Amino acid sequence: MSRLLRLAGAGAALAGLATTTRRVVAFQPPAADPQRADLDGLDADAAAARLAELIRIPTVSSRDPDEVDADAFERFRQRLTELYPLTHRVLERELLGEGALLYRWRSGTDDPPLVLMAHYDVVPVAGQDWTDDPFSGRIEDGAVHGRGAIDDKGSLVAILEAVESLLAAGFAPARDVYLSFGNDEEVFGVGAQLAVEAFRARGITPWAVLDEGGAVVTGMFPGVPVPMAVVGLAEKGLLDVDLVTTDPGGHASAPSRDGAPARLARAILRLEASPFPARLSDVVLAMVDACGRHAPGAYRALFAHAAQLRPALAAVLARASREGNAMVRTTVAITELEGSKAANVLATRARAHANIRIALGETVQSTVERLRRVIDDPAVELHVVGGNDPSPVSRTDNAAFALIGHAVRSVYPDAVVTPYVMVQASDARHFSAISDSVYRFMPFDVTREELAALHAANERISIAALHRGAGFFRYLIQRA
Ligand SMILES: [Zn+2]
Repeated sequence: MSRLLRLAGAGAALAGLATTTRRVVAFQPPAADPQRADLDGLDADAAAARLAELIRIPTVSSRDPDEVDADAFERFRQRLTELYPLTHRVLERELLGEGALLYRWRSGTDDPPLVLMAHYDVVPVAGQDWTDDPFSGRIEDGAVHGRGAIDDKGSLVAILEAVESLLAAGFAPARDVYLSFGNDEEVFGVGAQLAVEAFRARGITPWAVLDEGGAVVTGMFPGVPVPMAVVGLAEKGLLDVDLVTTDPGGHASAPSRDGAPARLARAILRLEASPFPARLSDVVLAMVDACGRHAPGAYRALFAHAAQLRPALAAVLARASREGNAMVRTTVAITELEGSKAANVLATRARAHANIRIALGETVQSTVERLRRVIDDPAVELHVVGGNDPSPVSRTDNAAFALIGHAVRSVYPDAVVTPYVMVQASDARHFSAISDSVYRFMPFDVTREELAALHAANERISIAALHRGAGFFRYLIQRA
């Protein structure tokens, strides 16, 4: 799943607001410096070579089972056992459903476990303008190239490099460590749900869960010179609704006024004219705050009045960019339109599909109710196709979140850790049902261009980032 961090708009918005405020807020004292990660035993080039091999196995997922190359998925799982022999000797491994993998590294204690997630399916490459074979796994210019390099075989490899190297060093974890690797994340499949069901059936409440999400980014917020490690604490909800109008129909030579398509169009325009309210959630406020604290004075000035400025900040973010807008409100995208099937026949039914991303603090039900109110036309039926509420917001006052922050700075010493809200859905949302400490973060420093290549052409990851990512997971496992 794409996890594009389009934060530039937020930074631009901040720049505008910051210049209008005066008071300067005091810095919070920085947390104690973590130890540097011990990268001994991690071989960057060997890790890159293993990732390249796994990229060469085209585990492309599809909602149509006939289009899934089950053999590729099988080969991928087989190759994992060969590339990471110690892991497969020591950890218990279960196959859930069609191909989700759940590993358990026993600690001998009953302490709540750490769960590290990734997925090994990738999105298709059709229609994309790659400069090379998307499944070449080419290693060039200090990077591994190909579909899945970041999303999400990169995370999977970084996790396994950490586990394998720790096993080689004779390390034993203080709490159980589970690895949950999905096979169908990109198609909203059931792999992660099966893992959650397994935990639930065994009465296990994870200590912390870490899945893909944010990353380490620099230059996304104009004026913020330091790298920002954005850790997703929550994700927006998802709602798919059909808007349907019906008519008796008839010949197009004698149309009625206000027919099905006209009423549908009016409903769409009403939704467009009355967007959901823009609100600054606590999580987005915390993100803006963290950025401000590490920017020049003008930015910092903003936070003396953060609480009072919430509505203004939300409005500015909403106007700043599409991405800023998505962070502060429920969004409605009309994606499909359908009317009469023939050029000279009146529509008996007109349909528009709305793909809606629900902001924190709202629900599927409250969203549907507001749609009805805004459309204000009983002749427009709303058919809910599917949906889920926004995830809960994970804790930041616990040892797990603090450890993630330390692990980040063990490999990215200059990075500032900040929370954020993911506007896309991820497998992690299923784990919110059994843990209040679910975090969405990939420990890779990525450029704007690298982010733009997720789900697009020329996806790649730098070998240095992959190396640091493995160091991050090692640090986390050693101290969890
Ligand atoms: Zn993904």
